[in-house]
Amino acid sequence: MLSVEDALTSILSGITPLTSTSLPLAETRGLVLAQDVIAHETIPPFANSAMDGFALRSRDSKIVNGQSPRIQVIGSIAAGSMPTVEVTAGTAMRIMTGAPIPPGADTVIQIELTQPVESQQDQIELFQEVPAGNNIRPAGEDMQPGQLVLSHGTTIDSWEIGLLGTLGWATVPVIRRARVAILSTGDEIIEIDQPLQPGKIRNSNGYMLASAIRSTGAEAHQLGIARDTTESLQEMLSKAAHYDLILTSGGVSVGDFDLVKQMIREQGEIDFWRINIKPGKPVAFGTLNGVPLLGLPGNPVSSAITFELFGRPLLRKLQGHSSLYKPQVEVIVTDGIKERSQRRQYIRARVEQRDGRFIATTTGNQGSNLLTSLRNANALLVVPENSLEIPPGGTLQAIMLHWSED
Ligand code: AMP
Ligand code: MG
Repeated sequence: MLSVEDALTSILSGITPLTSTSLPLAETRGLVLAQDVIAHETIPPFANSAMDGFALRSRDSKIVNGQSPRIQVIGSIAAGSMPTVEVTAGTAMRIMTGAPIPPGADTVIQIELTQPVESQQDQIELFQEVPAGNNIRPAGEDMQPGQLVLSHGTTIDSWEIGLLGTLGWATVPVIRRARVAILSTGDEIIEIDQPLQPGKIRNSNGYMLASAIRSTGAEAHQLGIARDTTESLQEMLSKAAHYDLILTSGGVSVGDFDLVKQMIREQGEIDFWRINIKPGKPVAFGTLNGVPLLGLPGNPVSSAITFELFGRPLLRKLQGHSSLYKPQVEVIVTDGIKERSQRRQYIRARVEQRDGRFIATTTGNQGSNLLTSLRNANALLVVPENSLEIPPGGTLQAIMLHWSED
């Protein structure tokens, strides 16, 4: 049996990142930047006020003989406008947050540290001395022309979107989204809007996998449901030539093995693996008319877990990410694990942080057909091959399914 690591190496070795494209900034979240971003402007572009207050000369704020200074207010500058007059000795201008510092002023006193002089409407009294530079955000404090702000290969998330917007990148070069074709297989599978019939089950995998695919940033397209015949498989797969990946569910276990194998042999090269994992032992991987094909087992939990272990890293590599795997943490397993196996087990569990430690509770019956056992899980506990029983309170590594790879 193939180890998980060898299967992954085999899958990833043939995968190279897709080409780049330009997308509107708002559509780039989760994608990988295909170019370095170098600032071509000074950010902030002009010195501006960090507070609502008064712009003045620092030396005019000095308290002389215990007497708070009084200052003549000569105008007001709102954010978005430019000052037209100069601040001179003994004068100040009302200034709003983000407004440019007027010439002559070297400091801003916040409004709370001043008070209007009762008898003199255009004068203020200062309660505190303010040093030069107080509440002033200098031009170029954030970014300087020529500065490397983001490197190619960076995953774009909200903060990167903020930076790109600041620099005026309305369209952004990114590695394009992978287009993934999903093929569900099985004579027993019916569409999800159909009433159940004797012996039939609904195509939950097609939808679950589409959602998982989309969570990597890729596009998911349903090819449909193939019957367990060579003709049906062939017909469905003939529509998959223009995709970046074909993901199938079902039809890779021993019973179906020959059918798929025979069909594919004529148009590509597929290995049917028995991987040393539980759940999800049978997995197929290869190419069909040049398109990579990952064949996942049909049992919903096996399908989900093998997608997480193999499909997700594959799609991340295809879409230009350099970190491919979900983070792992050491967890304390409250209920322990009784089931021993020669295979490596991935046990569905709920991990919570309590008193600074990660505490895991398994989600009960681990049957690979039980979708409800996935529902409450946010992690997979990794039980090594041939391991002994894990007693309650024992520790294991957990793959944190909802944490980001980056
Ligand atoms: P297979 O891998 O084709 O032998 O299927 C294994 C199990 O998964 C069987 O019980 C199937 O009915 C079930 N199964 C296969 N495909 C799907 C699907 N698209 N949605 C839900 N269950 C499926
Ligand atoms: Mg089947």
